[in-house]
Formats: sequence, C-alpha cells, structure tokens
Amino acid sequence: MSASVPVLDILGIGFGPANLSLAIALRETHPGLEARFLEARPSPDWQPGMLLDGSDIQNHPSRDLVTLRNPRSRFSFLNYLHESGRLLRHLNLPGEFPLRKEYAGYIRWAAGHFLNVVDCGQRAASVGTVEQDGEQLYDVVTETGRRYLSRTLVMAPGRTPYVPHPYDEVHSSRVFHLTRYLPQVAALTADRAPEAVAVIGGSQSAVELALDLSRRFPRTRVVTYTRSHSLRLKDTSPFSEEGYFPEFSAYYHAASPASRRKLDAYMQPTNYSSADGDVLKELYLAMYEQELDGEQRLFVRGNHEATAVSADSRSVTIDFREVHTGEQVRDTVDFAVLATGFRNMGPGAHEELHPPMLAPLAPRLATEPDGRLEVGADYRLLPAVPTDALPPLFLNGLCESSHGIGDAGSFSLLSLRAGVLTESLATALAHRTGVAEPMRCAVELGSASAVPAVAV
Ligand SMILES: Cc1cc2nc3c(=O)[nH]c(=O)nc-3n(C[C@H](O)[C@H](O)[C@H](O)COP(=O)(O)OP(=O)(O)OC[C@H]3O[C@@H](n4cnc5c(N)ncnc54)[C@H](O)[C@@H]3O)c2cc1C
Repeated sequence: MSASVPVLDILGIGFGPANLSLAIALRETHPGLEARFLEARPSPDWQPGMLLDGSDIQNHPSRDLVTLRNPRSRFSFLNYLHESGRLLRHLNLPGEFPLRKEYAGYIRWAAGHFLNVVDCGQRAASVGTVEQDGEQLYDVVTETGRRYLSRTLVMAPGRTPYVPHPYDEVHSSRVFHLTRYLPQVAALTADRAPEAVAVIGGSQSAVELALDLSRRFPRTRVVTYTRSHSLRLKDTSPFSEEGYFPEFSAYYHAASPASRRKLDAYMQPTNYSSADGDVLKELYLAMYEQELDGEQRLFVRGNHEATAVSADSRSVTIDFREVHTGEQVRDTVDFAVLATGFRNMGPGAHEELHPPMLAPLAPRLATEPDGRLEVGADYRLLPAVPTDALPPLFLNGLCESSHGIGDAGSFSLLSLRAGVLTESLATALAHRTGVAEPMRCAVELGSASAVPAVAV
C-alpha cells in the first residue's frame, strides 16, 4: 500500500498563520524541499469565529507572516495593502491597530498563493511512524482516509480550546467556546434575539464578546462572569513587551522550571485575563449610560465561580459561588459563551502534556521532570531514548511552556520562528540530494538584487 504513496520531505499539520509563515519561508529560502500541508477547514482562514465588527488585532501589524525574518518579502501586510489598493487609505485610519477583519483578509490573501501545497478539508486523524526502504517516515491518515508519508513532521494545529469544569460536563449547543462564536450565535438567534447571555471569563475576548452581544442585541441582558475580582487592564508597558522579543524566548528556554514560573507570573497580564483600555472604557461607559437611563442590561460580576451547569433545548442554567462571601447565585440564560482561553502544554488541570494527536508517539518523546514535552531551542521534540530513530518532529505555535509567552499562539515571533524551523528542517534533510544549499535571504545579503525569486 505504501508504495503508491509519495514520500514528502515535510508534512505540516494545520495551515493557520504558523505553518503559512513556514510555507513562505520554505519557498523563499529552500524551494527544493517538498512540503505539503493539511488543513481541516475548507479553505485557510484566521480565527473566523471571532471576526467581530470593530475588533482590532493585538500585534504590531508588521509583526506579520514575514517581515521580521525578511522585510523584503512579497508577503508582508504592507504589500497586501499595496496590492489591494488600500495602502494610503489604511495609513490614514484613525485607529492604532488594523481591524481583525482586514488582517484575516491578509492571511487569506497570502494563503491564496500557496494553495498548491495545501490539502484543504483534510483533518489529520492519526500520526504514527512506519519504516520504508530502511527509512523511518511519518505516517499520517486524515479523517477522509487519505494517507501521507513524510520524512519530517511540523505540528501547527493551534492550541486546544480550554473548557473548564463544570462547563466540560454539558454537551449542549448552548454552551460553546469563543472559537465557535459567530456561527453558533447565528444558529441560536435565527428566530429571535436572546433574552439573556452569559460570557464566561475576564480576557480581551470576553470584553469584546460582551460589547458585540450588546450591539447585536441591544435589549438583551449580557452578564460577564469572571473568577477574578474584576476586568483588568492589559500590561502594555514597552518594557514588558520585550517578552515578545527573541532574546526573551532564548532566556526563557534556558531558565529553570522555577524561574519559568516566575517569568510566567510576570508576563501573564501582557496577554491573559486582561483587556485593552479601549474596550474596557467602552464597556464601562456603556454600562454607566444604561445606569443613567435606568435600564441596566450589561453587567460584570467578578469573584464568581461556576459550580454547576445544566442545559435544555431552550436555556442554560449556571450556579455560581461568590468566591469570597460564599453566596450562591443562579442565572438562567439563552446561551453561554466561554472566553476561557486555550490549553498550554504542561501537567496542570488547564493544560495538556502534549497535543492530543501526538498521543501514540508520546511514550517515545523526552519529557521534562513534570511530564511536559522537552522541546529543543529549534522547536524540535527530542526522542526519550537517544538511539530511537524517530524522524524529525517539530511544534510550531505550541511552545509557550518551553519558549515563553511571545513564542506561542501569537503573531509576535511567528516569522522568526518560521526561519528557525526552516533552517532546522533543511539541516535534518541535508542528506537528500539537492536540498543542502539554502538560498540566503535578502536581509543577510544586504542587496535588493539578491532577493530570491518567489515562485507564486
Ligand atoms: C479571537 C482570537 C483573536 C486573536 N487575535 C490575535 C491578535 O490580534 N494578534 C496575535 O498575535 N494573536 C492573536 N490571537 C492568537 C492566535 O492564536 C494567533 O494569532 C494565530 O492564530 C496562531 O496561529 P496558528 O497557526 O498557530 O494557529 P491557528 O490560527 O489556530 O491555526 C491552526 C490551523 O490548524 C488547523 N487544524 C487544527 N487541527 C487540525 C488537524 N488535525 N488537521 C488539519 N488541520 C488542523 C485549523 O483548522 C487551523 O486552520 C488570537 C486568537 C484568538 C482566538
């Protein structure tokens, strides 16, 4: 059977921004390597369930798919604006950050140049290894039954949504993670506007959701429940933001587990359980205006922890405990949106030891003392037994626990990471004829004439 399956140099699982950035780096610097990517969606997209009206991105727009690695790449956000004929008007916008809708358009535009190396509608279902002609290969099968063999594997499926207890016990379309927000809201409100909705969490997304729900359904009661005291301002100090520099990733990677925990505690408010000033002010003002009008429909309830959740065909009932007073509170809403974040790699209740798809390979992978995967500086997973001929396996976009906050689920270091991955892949595949000669990028050569040709 395997004889009819061609052997790839590189197989990527997922074609979100992380592996798209890798595909661009490979084409610009190592076009001789044969890479293929599997994408579960019918076409590449960026967080389509959360493209809310008015919401903006959280990263500097030039920390995009390419610019930090190769500022002369054709696939920059600026060039997207230029080719779309919107550059000047975009630069004239009054806001600080681009709209998320426009950035999603940029991702789709860039991905559109790589569709020849992506198989869409193909969700990888299993990952194993197989020996063929004396060579260890990855053997990946998709939900539709397609089989792929590859010399190396790059996992970039995005982080697993975190659904905390007791919400994980309810299997209802009325309790859902924010990644499914737009389609789920459309389905649940096709006939009528909801009377009440609960937003669970205290993140940027939680605030954006509360605002979006109140705009969509002005008469609806929208209550944000969070376990922490209230909604906190994000730490946007430029000093803290240096946690999103590659130097911090290297520093973090070399740190002891105890030091990493301390650094995590410091960096946490730069991205988690906190929100930008603009949306916090907008929500506060809207709540105050409703108070003036004597018709309060937006609420924020801090120090509330859910103890039980149940759902029927029309509503969701959530029991909360006030964390400090012990008071019991029950609320019944049309639906509840979980702005509860994503799973990081680790042994904690809200974490996972490895990406679920790697479960069959997990016993062969080296782990740190607490059980999480040991990840090399170049994002390569190391075999538990050095003599194991495990083919090169890399994580792309899942390495917050090994590389720190800037080097995981965000755009901040995406393009630099793609550069590191590209070089590691090329080195690992150097034994193959014709792939050992990387094309040096224009930045290194310092000459516009040296920009490698991009076959698009
Ligand atoms: C609402 C929201 C807003 C955000 N805004 C920002 C922002 O403004 N700035 C920022 O820097 N970061 C932001 N982020 C963080 C975000 O994670 C990154 O921007 C970026 O999406 C990470 O890219 P990725 O490729 O690692 O993961 P993803 O974007 O999640 O892409 C993973 C891809 O893999 C596919 N996939 C998953 N499993 C499989 C499988 N088994 N087989 C095949 N394909 C699979 C998925 O369909 C998906 O297309 C935001 C996140 C969310 C949820």
